[in-house]
Amino acid sequence: MRTGQISVQSENIFPIIKKFLYTDQEIFIRELVSNAVDASKKIQTLSRIGEYADEVGDLKVEISIDEKKKTITISDYGVGMTDEEVEKYITQLAFSGATEFVNEWKDKDPDQMIGHFGLGFYSAFMVAKQVTLVSKSYKKDTEPVKWECDGSTSYSIDKGKRKKRGTDVILHLTDEDAETYLSKWKIRELLRKYCRFLPIKIEFDGETINDTEPLWTKKPSDLNQEDYKKFFEELYPSQDAPLFHIHINTDYPFSLTGVLYFPKVLQALDNRKDRVQLYSNQVFVTEDVKDVLPEYLVLLQGVVDSPDIPLNVSRSALQSDTNVKKITAHISKKVSDKLTEIFKNDREDYQNKWEYLDLIVKYGMLSDEKFAERMKEYCLVTTTEGGFHTIEEWIEHCKINQTDKNGNTVILYTTDATAQYMSVKSVKDAGYEVIVLNGALDVHFAGFAEGKFEKVSFKCVDSDPVNKLIEKEESIESVLDKEQQESLETLVKSLLNEMAFDVKLESLPPQQEFLSIHKNEWERRMEEYAKMGQSMPFGDLMGKKKSIIVNTNNILAGNILTKEADIQKEQLQHYIDLALLEKNLLQGADLERFITKAKSYIQD
Ligand code: ADP
Ligand code: MG
Repeated sequence: MRTGQISVQSENIFPIIKKFLYTDQEIFIRELVSNAVDASKKIQTLSRIGEYADEVGDLKVEISIDEKKKTITISDYGVGMTDEEVEKYITQLAFSGATEFVNEWKDKDPDQMIGHFGLGFYSAFMVAKQVTLVSKSYKKDTEPVKWECDGSTSYSIDKGKRKKRGTDVILHLTDEDAETYLSKWKIRELLRKYCRFLPIKIEFDGETINDTEPLWTKKPSDLNQEDYKKFFEELYPSQDAPLFHIHINTDYPFSLTGVLYFPKVLQALDNRKDRVQLYSNQVFVTEDVKDVLPEYLVLLQGVVDSPDIPLNVSRSALQSDTNVKKITAHISKKVSDKLTEIFKNDREDYQNKWEYLDLIVKYGMLSDEKFAERMKEYCLVTTTEGGFHTIEEWIEHCKINQTDKNGNTVILYTTDATAQYMSVKSVKDAGYEVIVLNGALDVHFAGFAEGKFEKVSFKCVDSDPVNKLIEKEESIESVLDKEQQESLETLVKSLLNEMAFDVKLESLPPQQEFLSIHKNEWERRMEEYAKMGQSMPFGDLMGKKKSIIVNTNNILAGNILTKEADIQKEQLQHYIDLALLEKNLLQGADLERFITKAKSYIQD
């Protein structure tokens, strides 16, 4: 036996390893099992290229726990290591890797990291007070070797006892960690999380943990719909079947495989669970892929596997990494290609799926210029009558009847066909058509589409009185003279809280409402931006004022002026109440007063 000192400048690396990354302590399993898998794959390769002539045998990685001895053992039948190799790879190489890693990360926030690849073998010391490694190399005439290290900088190397080729790594857990990890349930959970799709069989407690050939590693031409469906169920049990999938299989200029599913969920924005999983050579890395994938693609489900995504770097570095950018662009292109394909092959199918595609497509278009360019012709709008049209088709359609005096085509929309029922109706009575924009991003999307298409503007049906929504050439004289208008205005104002309402007198066609309430299109948009947490320009200046529009040409305007003061007041109050009621703004004591009054009419 001989002993040695791990040469380090910084006192002792192990306490540091142990202490930090504490939250991600469990990754020791991933690291050690990955090493065992790597060693097993190496023997396969050596055999294939003729460097190893003996039987490769049944390759598997076995994990076992011993509650009495407080150990976890990871065993493989891989290449193994000779005495010199242990010295070199474990003591020097692995150690220098770990040192480098610690030096880079010790002052940083552990939360900044995703996947801590790079720590490798020494992650064992996050849970073990002592590690024993016993190995026998595949090389002829070599002796088995035993290496031991107690978490200080000294270690020992001795002859080992192992007959079969391969390596055992035995972790002697600290008392504290033993409590957490010496449980079959816990180890199985961790193996299922990190090792579920590793390419070499993983066994624990007599059970095979993994699927060595997960779907995404296979050729799409060898798979059918049922295979994709099954895999989805395996990943996300008890969820609705997805709408369709995209199989990604690229090896140049980067390696990227994966299967993405379009989920059948309507409000995907709120549901952060069960998203895309990131793998690196079939090793699970993270479910937190929001720095690798643009946010609209995080809404998808499935698996992305790429060894070309750097895993031990900070989030900001990840986002600016050229490979990551290319990978993202590639995935985004695949997604738009697939959508385009469905649209072109079977538009009806596409329309049927649209309610689920809507959010992701729009989110993508809003956040990714290139995606927007590619999807522009395939983004649909739906009308209140249930029809589907591409934006371009709809604009063309509206040009004829809904172009204003300045040549702008006005697309009328409703954010809620029930709440805005009366506005929708009056707009339709005027011969216009209405689309439904009731999604979380729709009002933003309207602004975006205005920028993409020339001379097009979107207006909510209740943002103005009907004939102001799409202004035509005609101008209408007011029936009331200046003096009458002023007294009407004073009257209305006396009955309203001027902080909440702007009173505007307009000479509209006589058949239009006497009194109506509107939320200006611009203010509606600003409110939506605020909801999404975006800063508003001049936010402070903007009240939540709504407009009360008084149509001076409605016959009621003239009539009311001829009444006596108290009747005037009572009638006007009633019209204001009705206008408020229509917009669901009549509340509290005002509502109570209104209802009491309405009841009294019945009793009369
Ligand atoms: P990495 O896996 O990134 O190379 P590690 O610290 O995990 O870094 O491992 C260091 C080296 O130790 C490996 O490259 C390998 O040569 C050797 N090694 C570790 N575990 C095993 C094993 N189970 N069988 C054979 N060699 C191993
Ligand atoms: Mg490793």
